[in-house]
Amino acid sequence: MLPIDAPAIADGAVLVDDRGRIAVVGPNHAVPRPADAESRHLADAALLPGLVNTHTHLELTGFAGMAEEADFWEWIKHVIALKATRTDEDFFNAASRGIRECWAAGVTTICDMGNTGSVIAAMHELRANGIAQHEAFDMHAEETPTVMKRFSRELDRLAQHATGRVAIGVAPHAPYTVSGALYQAVSDLAGAHGVSIGVHVAEPADESALLRDFTGIFADALRARGITRVSPEPVSPIAWLDRHGVLTSRTICAHAIHTDAADTVIMVRRGVAIAHCPRSNRRHHGADAPVARYVDRGLRAGIGTDSEVSVAPLDLMAEARAARKLTGWTAVETLRVLTLGGAEALGLDASCGSLEVGKWGDMTAVRIPASKSPEDAVLASAIADVVATWSGGRSVH
Ligand SMILES: [Zn+2]
Repeated sequence: MLPIDAPAIADGAVLVDDRGRIAVVGPNHAVPRPADAESRHLADAALLPGLVNTHTHLELTGFAGMAEEADFWEWIKHVIALKATRTDEDFFNAASRGIRECWAAGVTTICDMGNTGSVIAAMHELRANGIAQHEAFDMHAEETPTVMKRFSRELDRLAQHATGRVAIGVAPHAPYTVSGALYQAVSDLAGAHGVSIGVHVAEPADESALLRDFTGIFADALRARGITRVSPEPVSPIAWLDRHGVLTSRTICAHAIHTDAADTVIMVRRGVAIAHCPRSNRRHHGADAPVARYVDRGLRAGIGTDSEVSVAPLDLMAEARAARKLTGWTAVETLRVLTLGGAEALGLDASCGSLEVGKWGDMTAVRIPASKSPEDAVLASAIADVVATWSGGRSVH
């Protein structure tokens, strides 16, 4: 058993109470076995906290392999076209399947971004755990009041699903789809309600070019729509978001590839969290995020898969292996980022991320060979090795 916040226990056991909270953690012989408790013995397996996926787009479940463009803008346009072929019911079914696939891969906490509202509805229905961040887009600053009216209405409608362990957040999408005015308005709204903010930031190199001197693929696309400038003077993506109040301790920055020392100073000052998506970064941009630098400076960081249109299937353990290669983390450090680190990044570490008395019974069991260290063996595992998953003590896989 790998509690994460405490050393591994060779023959460990967890007792979960009838509210779904962890009541006792310890060596098997020391954990009580109430007569009415349902009991399960897992031989040849490691038991660990459910994994935390800090960045995904589950409404895109089912689109794996359907958009293979190397050019990022062409890829985005293809994804938008694919989405236009789906009904609300299709999206809800896709999101539900995506949540079940997360559980089957040992993931019990999800931070999702999307614009259909299907993921928060499916999380509510399936009693999943995590945050659904609703996307805002619009590059015409003068339209911000109209866009915000519609956005607020959508949030009001979606908030009915934010019950139990499901939280709502906002996601001003990216610097090439959101004007400065809209960034400010969405940040103000998030601040007023104390909800999380998800952003794609410093991801493609052309995003930096757009804000520096209005060049690159995004500038070309915007020029064709009558927009001739984004920032009045050269600015980095991180500084641009900071200027509009987007960077806070409730903000989760996905990707954050193209940042320098000055950006990192801003990120540390604001206390943002990082959703590191190593395989998506490589697939779309052939680049790596300086995640070791972020963690060294004390930023909270978790691992994300991004959507299955980027990398399929969603395999958080494979992402963790890729992250480990970039950072030189030990197996113990890598497993911490996958679980408690991700929970900290999402602000959910008081209730999940480790096997600790009082936290939810979010757990996964992974089949491992006896010959290896359990941490190394878990990190080497495949999705098919996940033998069971519980969310709040409820068997979900
Ligand atoms: Zn994303």
